[in-house]
Amino acid sequence: MNVLLLEPNYHNKYPPLGLMKISTFHKSRGDAVSFFKGTSTEYQKRFGNKRWNRIYISTLFTYQYNKSIEAINLAKKHTRNEKIYVGGVAATLLSDNYLKDVEINTIRGLLNAEGKIGLKGDSKIDKMIPDYSILDEIDYKYPTNNAYIGYTTRGCVNKCPFCAVPILEPKYCHYFNLKKYVKEIKRKYGEKKDLLLLDNNVLASERFEDIIKDIKDLGFERDAKTSNGKRKRYVDFNQGLDARKLNEKKAKLLSEIAIRPARIAFDHIELEAQYRNKVELMAKYGVLHLSNYLLYNFNDKPKDLYKRIKINIQLNEDFETKIFSFPMKFIPLNAKDRSFVGKYWTRKQLRAIQTILHATHGVVGPKREFNERAFGETVEEFETLLWMPEEYIMYREEHERSDARKWREQFENLSKQDKKILKEIIKNNEINISILKQKANSKVKKILKHYGILQKRAQTKIEDFSL
Ligand code: SF4
Repeated sequence: MNVLLLEPNYHNKYPPLGLMKISTFHKSRGDAVSFFKGTSTEYQKRFGNKRWNRIYISTLFTYQYNKSIEAINLAKKHTRNEKIYVGGVAATLLSDNYLKDVEINTIRGLLNAEGKIGLKGDSKIDKMIPDYSILDEIDYKYPTNNAYIGYTTRGCVNKCPFCAVPILEPKYCHYFNLKKYVKEIKRKYGEKKDLLLLDNNVLASERFEDIIKDIKDLGFERDAKTSNGKRKRYVDFNQGLDARKLNEKKAKLLSEIAIRPARIAFDHIELEAQYRNKVELMAKYGVLHLSNYLLYNFNDKPKDLYKRIKINIQLNEDFETKIFSFPMKFIPLNAKDRSFVGKYWTRKQLRAIQTILHATHGVVGPKREFNERAFGETVEEFETLLWMPEEYIMYREEHERSDARKWREQFENLSKQDKKILKEIIKNNEINISILKQKANSKVKKILKHYGILQKRAQTKIEDFSL
């Protein structure tokens, strides 16, 4: 059987674990497996008009829906519809859309039940060793390419409203034999430097102690190095650690492995006390490299994001931690693009955050001075910054002493009512002419002149740093 594994042509950090396991499964049956990620021209060059017995397509974020549709349309040219198997996160969450738009019945959830791809033994795919060799078939280089990638648990015990895990992996599994899994990868594909664990909530496991022991036994104890002694190894639970479940005992256990960074979630400002407490706990056990995603554009207000950034800066100073955080824009689970605007946000403010993050490369690092420059020294400064013309945010140095200063003066001099009108006019990140005509007085019209043609220069530069 000729099998093609196809990853949509989007940028992603981690190799497609599901496809790598499907490769192992098919190769164990004696099938010929190829892996492809790229443009249709590149596909044509490599495979021409070759026909496939099966094509598997992975999907990831729902907002990359269009990229996955491109991959499906490519697959349709080279096999029959019923031989196309589309799985992964977006395929699970948007299965109705795939059926309606491209007439594909997607595979929902994990490949851990009989019959999902209609072949004998397919229920074991999820627990199989990923085939790392397929990664050599493509030019694309995944930023994370020297790690054992796996799980020690599955699912999550919580049901947070913004999270897809309860749908994707509804059953919590407390333990998976990581030792056997990693040893087998090492035997087949050689030693990997790091250990990347995709657990959704490892701290909920009743067998957390066993998991830590397994990790240590595999050579990932604190300060561990690769077997040639040359490189430091790191363990990363990249989906984060549930602060609610972190206690003294678990913090101590975590400190016994080469964890870096420890990702402690700080999803909303109400968690401040708990979050501070848990960062302090990790610091007590010498785990100083910390990280988190700062979810925004959900039920939060812009100032809540700023406060969380400031809290991280302060914690770094208090406990000598190095917290790197990544503001992450909330997008509804079934959104097919990134255009969602939360109820306390506007498109203009979201755009401003993207512009700031462009300068910081998407990261909020531990340096106070740098962050205060990027996000403002006070919450008021931050809130004002979000209404500043994009050009001035983007090219701060260039405009600071001239146009941006004038803008700031004019903005500060607007009455409360005028500010409200200005915000109404620009909130969708474009000038609302009808509100302008109806409501703007001379002061508002004057400041609006800053939001002009110059915008274009900034707009073409900004990438979306939402993760
Ligand atoms: S704790 Fe984390 S993984 Fe579990 S449901 Fe909440 S966000 Fe998702």
